[in-house]
Amino acid sequence: MEDNEKEIVSRNFIEQEIDKDLAEGVYDTVHTRFPPEPNGYLHIGHAKSILLNYGLAKKYQGKFNMRFDDTNPTKEKTEFVESIKEDIKWLGADWEDRLFFASDYFEQMYEAAVKLIKKGKAYVSDLSADEIREYRGTLTEPGKKDPYSERSIEENLELFEHMKNGAYKDGEKVLRARIDMTSPNINMRDPVIYRVAHMNHHNTGDTWCIYPMYDFAHPIEDAIEGITHSICTLEFEDHRPLYDWVVRELEYEKPPRQIEFAKLYLTNVVTGKRYIKKLVEDGIVDGWDDPRLVSIAALRRRGFTPESLQMFVELCGVSKSNSSVDYAMLEYCVREDLKLKKPRMMAVLDPIKLVIDNYPEGQVEMLEASNNMENPELGTHQVPFSGELYIEREDFMEEPPKKYFRLFPGNEVRLMHAYFVTCTGFEKDEKGNVTVVHCTYDPATKAGSGFSERKVKGTIHWVPVKEAVKAEVRLYENLVDEEKGVYNKEDGSLNLNPNSMTVLKECYLEPAVSGAEAYDSFQFVRNGFFCVDYKDSKPDALVFNRIVSLKSSFKLPK
Ligand code: ATP
Ligand code: MG
Repeated sequence: MEDNEKEIVSRNFIEQEIDKDLAEGVYDTVHTRFPPEPNGYLHIGHAKSILLNYGLAKKYQGKFNMRFDDTNPTKEKTEFVESIKEDIKWLGADWEDRLFFASDYFEQMYEAAVKLIKKGKAYVSDLSADEIREYRGTLTEPGKKDPYSERSIEENLELFEHMKNGAYKDGEKVLRARIDMTSPNINMRDPVIYRVAHMNHHNTGDTWCIYPMYDFAHPIEDAIEGITHSICTLEFEDHRPLYDWVVRELEYEKPPRQIEFAKLYLTNVVTGKRYIKKLVEDGIVDGWDDPRLVSIAALRRRGFTPESLQMFVELCGVSKSNSSVDYAMLEYCVREDLKLKKPRMMAVLDPIKLVIDNYPEGQVEMLEASNNMENPELGTHQVPFSGELYIEREDFMEEPPKKYFRLFPGNEVRLMHAYFVTCTGFEKDEKGNVTVVHCTYDPATKAGSGFSERKVKGTIHWVPVKEAVKAEVRLYENLVDEEKGVYNKEDGSLNLNPNSMTVLKECYLEPAVSGAEAYDSFQFVRNGFFCVDYKDSKPDALVFNRIVSLKSSFKLPK
């Protein structure tokens, strides 16, 4: 009971802060934003931040902005801008007409810096990056005064303008905020707020050769957009005094307020753009949307739904302390979401032929199969039945162990939606592998006929040989080796699982699956949920990714 209460309280701590702000009249509305840096694809952690920010805006009938934090020019940004927009739309967060780029505010940021110089709150320094680090001091020692900090306001204004006009090389001069070199918080020891960088920017081209630092730019972006609650992750907690200093010194009328929450981590999964990027660049995965990754694009490709991620984020809650969530919880959520929505089909992933020797030659019967046993609203479909079927190799055993209720010589099983069959024999190739299983069927046992004379313990699924749709199926395991842990302790590299992907080239599906298109998903009896791969699937050569298997040991925490 107590634990339960604590959970609910911590889940809502941001809402409590917002409630307080509204009650005290600090703000009269709620305006949030999601500010990704377009330097990679978004991942499951970002999904949490997006849904949190968007959810708060919705809950308080406020607004949600989308803003690219593109103050740090590096290469290949446009691809990332597009993928990020697509991912956020897919997740269901709507920024309406409020799509912004931090780089749109470069002029205002420049003016903000000039304002600080005029107030005596910023100065141009000639110290190199190394010297600045040296002068900064440590956690136990205060910093030392910058020898350039005594420059006059006029001189600083002139030098800063020269910086902007390209008079200096990269790193030759910086603009520093004048705060407190002895502050116990290192972020407050006269942080650099502008640097010289002769780089081409994806949005502003060569207009600028000075760029603002994140800690200076971010509060300005928030303030310009009228953000009320600037929600970010815990690593920015120590930067909050600087955030507050910037908005205070720039005298914004309604300064935004920063609130931090803990990042989402998953067990046995690679998050972190840096690591995903390396896997992509090293060719270990098939791009940013490889179904083994947890980028949003990869989850979508694998067959996860926006609803399943929303549910997952909801279950994770919002907290102030870092911890890892079990990957099985994510699987639980997608299973829960799909189980009533998706049609159930028979698919044989590891086929072996079953011949019904007493079935009339050439006969084909159409049998009715329910699309979803738990949701009759999904209706039924027809499946052709005849004398030659595929069944799973594991559903026949020459010498069965105890409690094996499927096919073995002399045993009778139910063929799903069809008849009872009794195994009468089998054929083997030269290597001793079983190639064909023989059986006879009992016409009196047709499904739906009310036959109840005999009980059989096993039911197996099948597909008709002639009408089956051949497809490729890909099964996945964790990309990293669970036993060894995600990262190698010695060199920080990833402990990869060599079996993370199994490709089954010769699988057979019920004909009702033909015509399936990219992102369509199904439950395949006993084998799990599967989704048509958007990249590699073709109408006449379907490729499926297994989203998740049916069984799990995961239990929802009470
Ligand atoms: P990464 O560390 O994976 O590279 P990042 O924090 O550098 O991510 P940004 O583009 O700067 O990525 O992040 C955009 C927003 O998403 C930030 O507000 C950040 O705090 C948030 N965010 C990033 N990772 C997570 C996570 N694992 N859980 C929750 N929020 C996250
Ligand atoms: Mg970042």
